[in-house]
Amino acid sequence: MTDCIFCKIIAGEIPSYQIYEDDDVLAFLDITQTTKGHTLVVPKKHIRNVLEMSAEDAATLFAKIPKIAAHITQTLGASGMNILQNNETIAGQTVFHAHVHLIPRYRKDDGFTASFTEHELDLKALQSTLTTP
Ligand code: 5GP
Ligand code: ZN
Repeated sequence: MTDCIFCKIIAGEIPSYQIYEDDDVLAFLDITQTTKGHTLVVPKKHIRNVLEMSAEDAATLFAKIPKIAAHITQTLGASGMNILQNNETIAGQTVFHAHVHLIPRYRKDDGFTASFTEHELDLKALQSTLTTP
């Protein structure tokens, strides 16, 4: 897609610090470096986000995550990693080419905060509509 910043990175039209590449995915450092080594893994094929992804494209992308994540964690001596993936503006997506954030963690106060707020359960609709393929 011509006006997509990640397609331009994949095409080499915009510079990036790349750490892994194969036929299907590219992994490069996020410009913000939320923590040291914060990396984005993107499919080379332009797909808006996971909500529009086929099972095959998802399998191709996510199959690469464990190896890249372990490499970053071990190489940088991180104690763990948050793996985050935003879909649509309400969820924090700002670049509309699917991507997975790999955020190495070093300390509780290292720059990234993951928190969950408790709410009452209301699952009836979900349970009745999702069927296995
Ligand atoms: P989102 O908010 O869509 O989940 O994440 C988009 C990410 O892309 C942000 O963390 C942002 O820092 C990163 N980003 C945006 N533009 C560029 C760029 O030109 N180069 C790199 N390396 N990262 C970018
Ligand atoms: Zn794109």
